[in-house]
Amino acid sequence: MGGILSGCGVLVLNMFKWLKRQLDKIGSPTLDWVQVEVTSHCNGACIYCPHTLLRSRWTSKQMPIELFRKLIPFLKYTDMVYLQGWGEPLLNNNIFEMIRICKDQGKCVGFTTNGMLLTEDTIRTLTDLELDIIGISLAGATATTHNQIRKGTDFNKLVSNLELLYKIKAERKTNVPAVHLAYLMLRSNFHELKEILPLAKRVGAKQIVASNMTLILDPKLSAEAIFNDTKHMDYYNITLKEIKDKATSENIIFDYHGPGLDDASLRCRENVLHACVINVEGKVVPCVLTDPVLCENREPDDRNPPCYIFKDQSFPIRGISFGNIRNESLTHIWNKKEYSRFRELFNPKITRSSEQILSEMPQCCVKCYKRLGA
Ligand code: SF4
Ligand code: SF4
Repeated sequence: MGGILSGCGVLVLNMFKWLKRQLDKIGSPTLDWVQVEVTSHCNGACIYCPHTLLRSRWTSKQMPIELFRKLIPFLKYTDMVYLQGWGEPLLNNNIFEMIRICKDQGKCVGFTTNGMLLTEDTIRTLTDLELDIIGISLAGATATTHNQIRKGTDFNKLVSNLELLYKIKAERKTNVPAVHLAYLMLRSNFHELKEILPLAKRVGAKQIVASNMTLILDPKLSAEAIFNDTKHMDYYNITLKEIKDKATSENIIFDYHGPGLDDASLRCRENVLHACVINVEGKVVPCVLTDPVLCENREPDDRNPPCYIFKDQSFPIRGISFGNIRNESLTHIWNKKEYSRFRELFNPKITRSSEQILSEMPQCCVKCYKRLGA
């Protein structure tokens, strides 16, 4: 009798699981990419990074491979997986396995690195795995500037690692991983940005993205954000345009953000409508600025929450999570009312007055430089 009952129980359970899979298929989103924070450990100490500035409260974590595997059923709803969050992806011991899982599903895979762990073995493995994109973080085009800002990393070592990657790709007659240079524009390093083109040519990079410091944790750094340097906006605009034109003539894509702010903008520059971030603990969040790892409290009664600076005022960092892939499917999380309502705020097809949109937007989005186009 017990056997028959448990047999029925198993049947019901299997039917339930089957039904859940079918429902997941029906309601699954089509995403441009899924960003996965595979680690929050880092070997760098960049002067502007929460990893450095919140170090007394930062808890470094690794995404376990078992948690990463929970994403497999949902990989078919996206073309791209970017293995990146607040940390150095090569510090996750399972990074190669994670890449392999995504590649086996036919996905385009990439991550951004500070480049310090790109040993010859690692480069060869990444090339064997046919990693599609490797982003390289820079904050200068000379060792003096880069090393002062991206402390704990070394420009010369980074460039020689990239030259080795270039050589190995040439030996193997492959274009992957494609190298993308990610340059953080600051007032103190902007004058070196034009040198990024010769560097890109030297290491075979076909794409450069010049971005802004959008999360400012130290008031002393506010003046470093070029969007705050309103007196020199013409200089920034003209220089960026010149670099873009030169890059285009050399067949290199040069994208940049800003340089000024659009205070009337209601559109988040992150692709919140068609992408999401899974943080190191499996939480589904709209962007890295709302990643709960940024505001984790070591003490339950933490009275001193981490804050960021927006337009000279200080605001507590707030995480937003719509669910966790540990215990819910990504489809279910994506379709939750609160997540749909959040996305609607950024949907240009839904027309509402700007006052209404701003009144419904979470404060972290209202007071966000990325919303203003930075
Ligand atoms: S390498 Fe990246 S994660 Fe590490 S400290 Fe620098 S900016 Fe932060
Ligand atoms: S507005 Fe800012 S905080 Fe809100 S989703 Fe966009 S990037 Fe994230």
